Amino acid sequence: ISKDISGNKYTLYNSKMNELSNEKIIIENDIRRGIEEREFELYYQPKINIKNEGIMGLEALIRWNHPLRGSVSPDEFIPIAEETGLIDSLGKWILNEAIYQQEKWINMGYKFGAISINLSPKQFKNKDIKTEILLLLSKSKLESKYIEFEITETAAIESEEYTLDLMTELTELGIKFAIDDFGTGYSSLSYLINLPFDTIKIDKSFIDNISKGSRGIEIVKGIIAMANSLKMNVIAEGVETKEQLDILRELECDMVQGYYYNPPIPADKIEKIYGIKK
Ligand code: C2E
Ligand code: MG
Ligand code: MG
Ligand code: MG
Repeated sequence: ISKDISGNKYTLYNSKMNELSNEKIIIENDIRRGIEEREFELYYQPKINIKNEGIMGLEALIRWNHPLRGSVSPDEFIPIAEETGLIDSLGKWILNEAIYQQEKWINMGYKFGAISINLSPKQFKNKDIKTEILLLLSKSKLESKYIEFEITETAAIESEEYTLDLMTELTELGIKFAIDDFGTGYSSLSYLINLPFDTIKIDKSFIDNISKGSRGIEIVKGIIAMANSLKMNVIAEGVETKEQLDILRELECDMVQGYYYNPPIPADKIEKIYGIKK
């Protein structure tokens, strides 16, 4: 065991590391407990057709109603669930819940479009994910066209051959795929040729910068043009203002998601706001 010259720093650093890993273990156990105690809930955020303002689909976004900490953000616990491997059981719960909810809505006669489920990188790369999805779909009577998966470009290209394999099999069944947080992955665009994505979701950071006359507008314009020539759908994420909406309409963006219309909301609220039965 090596010692720091001062003899102090070492122990300090060491105890900090312990603190960190202790905290991780605490959160890990807390997530496990939370799953058992049914503290997780799916919220849903509409995807809105920019032309007629109709609902085109819903993105499922997980919420943790923690008994002591209140509502905990997925940005806080998804990374820990990933690191600890708990993402597999949490992911299973998410898949189950989203498919159950969607089947229920279809049976009730609601037409909200497809449900988009986020797959985190580890969850996506788990070799059992395909079997799990197929099993869930066979147990429910839900048609595959009502399901979409969102994955980030980084996750998709990290093992492109595996991704192609998985995507090919699932898209053959009618399941759709969207690229989440497009433009933030610093990756080459060649995967757009090789992988069967249907939709590009332009990351909020680009939408934040599309004021009139800005350079940001040109980037978004370019992404939309590219998506159109590739015959892909394009969604703008994180639309908050009327100005952004108007610009995106001018740029002929297909769909938007954002607080301008709705934040993610519970299932019963979706029914209340968008539940005109067709
Ligand atoms: P994401 O999939 O890119 O989801 C978009 C995030 O932006 C959501 O945050 C949403 O609430 C937020 N958002 C939507 N519109 C606006 C807006 O107009 N303004 C602002 N400021 N934010 C907006 P959320 O729900 O906190 O989720 C954060 C991330 O956590 C997600 O990013 C996704 O990567 C992950 N996540 C959430 N739910 C799940 C899940 O069920 N499974 C997995 N694997 N990851 C999830
Ligand atoms: Mg998403
Ligand atoms: Mg996103
Ligand atoms: Mg994100």
